[in-house]
Amino acid sequence: MDKNSTVEMSSAIFHSKSIVPFMSDKNFSLLLPIIIYWIYSGLYHLISIFKIPFFEKYRIRSTDAEKLNKVTMGEVLKSVILQQIMQTVLGLIVLITEGEDVLLDDTVEMQHISQTLKTFSTKYNAWKIIEPYQDIITESIYWYIIPAAKFLLAMIILDTWQYFLHRLFHQSKFLYRHIHSLHHRLYVPYAFGALYNHPIEGLLFDSLGACLAFNFSGMTIRGGAVFFAFSSLKTVDDHSGYRFPFNPIQRIFGNNTAYHDIHHQPYGMKANFSQPFFTFWDRVLGTHMPIDQKHQNRQNHIKVVKENTINDISNDISNDISSIDNNQAFKKEEIVNPEVLSPGRFNLRSRENLS
Ligand SMILES: [Zn+2]
Ligand SMILES: [Zn+2]
Repeated sequence: MDKNSTVEMSSAIFHSKSIVPFMSDKNFSLLLPIIIYWIYSGLYHLISIFKIPFFEKYRIRSTDAEKLNKVTMGEVLKSVILQQIMQTVLGLIVLITEGEDVLLDDTVEMQHISQTLKTFSTKYNAWKIIEPYQDIITESIYWYIIPAAKFLLAMIILDTWQYFLHRLFHQSKFLYRHIHSLHHRLYVPYAFGALYNHPIEGLLFDSLGACLAFNFSGMTIRGGAVFFAFSSLKTVDDHSGYRFPFNPIQRIFGNNTAYHDIHHQPYGMKANFSQPFFTFWDRVLGTHMPIDQKHQNRQNHIKVVKENTINDISNDISNDISSIDNNQAFKKEEIVNPEVLSPGRFNLRSRENLS
């Protein structure tokens, strides 16, 4: 098979037709993350309501603790639907100037890569070694290495965007109180609540963040479809409330449901701002709080903040997070009332009062 016929075959597989026959790739890239969101969170919801013992042993917080959430499921669902409408509208606006992938001329693109490969390897006297594998290397670069690199870049861009915004929305009392505190009404997160946000936050953090990641990484529409869908899946998983040892997403990513659960707790809300993929910004900027050993032991009761835990937390968090000092006020056998969460202000309620 000569080079051109190989290229034509790849094109036929990857770009000559839209992914689904009744819809353009652009529209599909906007619809897919919504479908993924409802299917994946629906599965977690079924697991949650049927309380199957096999899964329940991996639940991070008890169903009793869920009663502490200060928002009803109906409000959560309304908010999520509103956000998905907004993200679709924004997506349509952003994608309007993008060309469909079916218009990409893969042959020309691969010829550029092939030529660059030849120039580069000749410069370093490696052309004779590379030449027999020229086609396979060119195809691998075009179909796999470049898309993977763009995907990774998009993840880093989205993480960077969300880390700094998220931290800002905690450090500004105004922004926290009027916008981000909505998301923290979920003291015990559950899958449907992953996108439960103030509409401004949803638009800024998730929708605009995803658009920036897509544009600056230079992804194709199909790359974007996979990226948007995976981001949707990841954020649902991060709020699932179950820490499954057999879940590959939770094993691969240090930033997972247990990590984000800490951020939803009063003792951890000034840490673990990183989302949705990696933890490097938390580590670099001193806001990283490691997953509590108690999570690994699958704690199945309302979180009791113990003095020794607080000491660990204080050591781990940078001094510039001033309000974490308030943790020193926590006493043994006390838990936090989440209804009045605000930056630098933690209200305590005795465990007895809650029961
Ligand atoms: Zn937060
Ligand atoms: Zn969250």
